[in-house]
Amino acid sequence: MAVKVVKFGGTSMADAASITKVANIVKSDSERKYVVVSAPGKRYSEDRKITDMLYSCYHDVELCGECRETFDKIRERFRGIVKELDIDINIDKYLDEVEEGIVKYRSADYAASRGEYLGGIIISAVLGYSFIDAKDVIKFNASGDFDSELTNEYVKNAVRKTGNAVIPGFYGSDDAGNIVTFSRGGSDITGAVIARAVEASVYENWTDVDGFMTTDPRVVKNPVHIEQLTYRELRELAYMGANVLHPESIFPVRYSNIPINIRNTFNPEHKGTMIVPASDENTHNKTITGIAGKSGYSTIFIEKSMMNKELGFARRVLSVLEYYGVSFEHMPSGIDSLSLVIPDAELAGKEKAVVNRITKAVQPDHIELLSGYSLIATVGHGMSFKIGTAARLCDSLAKANVNIRMIDQGYSEMSIIVGVDTKDYEKAITAIYNEFFLEK
Ligand code: ASP
Repeated sequence: MAVKVVKFGGTSMADAASITKVANIVKSDSERKYVVVSAPGKRYSEDRKITDMLYSCYHDVELCGECRETFDKIRERFRGIVKELDIDINIDKYLDEVEEGIVKYRSADYAASRGEYLGGIIISAVLGYSFIDAKDVIKFNASGDFDSELTNEYVKNAVRKTGNAVIPGFYGSDDAGNIVTFSRGGSDITGAVIARAVEASVYENWTDVDGFMTTDPRVVKNPVHIEQLTYRELRELAYMGANVLHPESIFPVRYSNIPINIRNTFNPEHKGTMIVPASDENTHNKTITGIAGKSGYSTIFIEKSMMNKELGFARRVLSVLEYYGVSFEHMPSGIDSLSLVIPDAELAGKEKAVVNRITKAVQPDHIELLSGYSLIATVGHGMSFKIGTAARLCDSLAKANVNIRMIDQGYSEMSIIVGVDTKDYEKAITAIYNEFFLEK
């Protein structure tokens, strides 16, 4: 029988009413055998996520050796959930164990992971599914890197013994038994890892929106919904800020071409967005699949006559970035110039040092750091090898009076990235959206 892996995000786990919806969704399809959960998230916009409160507990312990005040709020929330769900578990026993662990281990990862752990215990009681602790199956090496092959083996062995299971998302453990987490939002990755190991027919990722939109709804009102997109399109859009799904979630499912279906716990009738493997085919007949963007970039602009003849020029520039541990995102170049587009967060505090060292390394005629950049990615297999897409994009920006500071199109031709001044960011996204998605 086909099996499905279902992952529920923080909003779906936020309170007893949402958890009841989760249970109904799982029970309504007998193929939904493996359930991965996030920690309870926000119930309303000013609310705090349990994960954030757990990080606060860790900081409290670092400061004063205990976290009673913050932990009591966590305790209250879990107690309330268990009471309302009317399930037979001794939640206080688990809460005591967690509070003690936060004080004892003094580990941010341990503390942060406990929301998923407790949420997993609750949902396994609600569903009557077995509980597999992620620390026993999701494995990291001594340097904290995820070990995909060992994990695959461990998960396969663990699920062999059960017909169904709940597995908390976001964390695992290293060889020494220390808890290690993925980056924030990492329960999406856990879901994908489980889907790979159980050879799921689909990985359903249940969240609080109907799936991906063709662009950011905070910029364009009611953008068109995306029914289907490919893994590669998702990578581009997610990386550039479309934050419905963790961008690393596709790596595990890609091994066996398992589709990911984004669904809405609060609108379960909606088919959501399907993310499919079809590597370089256009899965719909539109030129563009979506537009995403991010602000907060700077550019180091380097000019030197005849740099194209100077062997090792780019290497010397890049070795400076490596030396300072700064990663860059784009490197558009001309004959006598080269620019490095870098997220501000990467450069923070190191701007002067980086510029000075590049100056020493390559002695440019001119070097300048320009900030206040935004990048916008226009993505879609539909534009590969199609003449005129870049022209339409540039024309739409020109008509909106937006100056393009940088433009980058990779070999695959499935995304065009433009850099604009941040003051033009929303205007630019709206212009590109109107050009490609509004009926003319
Ligand atoms: N609870 C974690 C976070 O808030 C992980 C997750 O929800 O996926 O980032």
